[in-house]
Amino acid sequence: MATHKTRMLIIGSGPAGLSAAIYGARAGMEPIVVQGLQPGGQLTITTDVENYPGFRDVIQGPWLMQEMEAQAVHVGTRMMWDTIVSVDLSGPPFRAIGDGGDVYEGDTLVIATGAQAKWLGVPGEQELSGKGVSACATCDGFFYRGKKVVVIGGGNTAVEEALYLTNHSQDVTLIHRRDSLRAEKILQARLFAHPNITVVWDKAVDGFVADGTTGQLAAVALTDTKTGEKTELATEGAFVAIGHAPAVSLFEGKLELDESGYLKVQPGTPKTSIPGVFACGDVMDHTYRQAVTAAGTGCMAALDAERYLTAHEFAKVAEVAAEEA
Ligand code: FAD
Ligand code: NAP
Repeated sequence: MATHKTRMLIIGSGPAGLSAAIYGARAGMEPIVVQGLQPGGQLTITTDVENYPGFRDVIQGPWLMQEMEAQAVHVGTRMMWDTIVSVDLSGPPFRAIGDGGDVYEGDTLVIATGAQAKWLGVPGEQELSGKGVSACATCDGFFYRGKKVVVIGGGNTAVEEALYLTNHSQDVTLIHRRDSLRAEKILQARLFAHPNITVVWDKAVDGFVADGTTGQLAAVALTDTKTGEKTELATEGAFVAIGHAPAVSLFEGKLELDESGYLKVQPGTPKTSIPGVFACGDVMDHTYRQAVTAAGTGCMAALDAERYLTAHEFAKVAEVAAEEA
């Protein structure tokens, strides 16, 4: 067990955390980034990224995140393979404890813990997780080569997952609880044009049904949200793609949350309810939730952390000078 001290401690290594690190390192704050269970964040579980500025051609999510990390390290960031299990925000310094017991102390703290996949919470979902039920097509799609699969949801993630799955399956069904999608129009156009994708509208998934012999997923149980009719749709793979929840559990009761359960910040800033503690990216943004907006707010967090430290350190120097006078 060791204690690691820094002027800027960053929890999370997605676009927000790494952008904060790049700015923080270049401002001489020698940041530490604690990476968590998903180094590189959510973009590491997708393939094509075509809306991150600066790249004419489509780039790959994992590649983009490797490049961001390499840039952060190049300018002086220390990357730690650890996951924070508790925080003490009574500082400064602010303390975070890693799951092996290491202590991280930051004169400022940048929270960039992002978001995690949501589950439906219906019967069979947990039991069949890894036996036909998944929340990541790019991670698990390969296992369903040549099989019939379904995707549940109506946002960008669901549509992208359905399109991605056509690389492996010729029979992909998107199941959505309403009669219109939330996904961007360009993605919808690709979805509707794809010959191997069927869309099932107005159906809620009530449960996942196992095959009595193999114990693997055999069907999804559906209820029509308009008529109430109950049906089953046979499938070997089901991908839940109904959005993500902000990773705020470490901070509950310690920092204010907004009405959607995201970390609350002063409007237009990354400042949380505690001076010196900043939040950026998907953990504080329930509206935009894009890599570029996460990177932008990461930059803002680093700039504000640097300003906070300068003011704090100046105040200390002034205090000492006053005592000596
Ligand atoms: P995240 O990327 O969620 O990263 C969170 C980080 O926090 C992770 O490194 C995690 O390990 C770490 N962490 C969490 N808890 C702890 C802990 N306790 N201790 C230490 N570390 C912790 N956006 C686009 O702009 N374009 C796209 O094409 C696009 N495609 C997407 C495809 C998919 C399938 C998904 C799911 C999202 C996509 N997005 C896309 C959205 C984009 O990925 C997110 O907006 C962005 O990753 C948010 O960045 P973030 O840094 O805030 O958080
Ligand atoms: P999202 O936009 O919140 O969409 C979630 C979808 O799941 C909605 O269609 C919602 O239905 C449905 N849903 C939610 N709870 C459900 C439940 N209990 N049962 C059935 N359906 C349920 O989430 P997302 O698609 O993961 O996207 C998250 C963010 O990442 C967005 O800002 C998105 O733009 C971004 N993203 C961007 C890209 C890209 O730019 N290429 C790719 C992926 C994600 P309703 O529509 O009825 O509410």
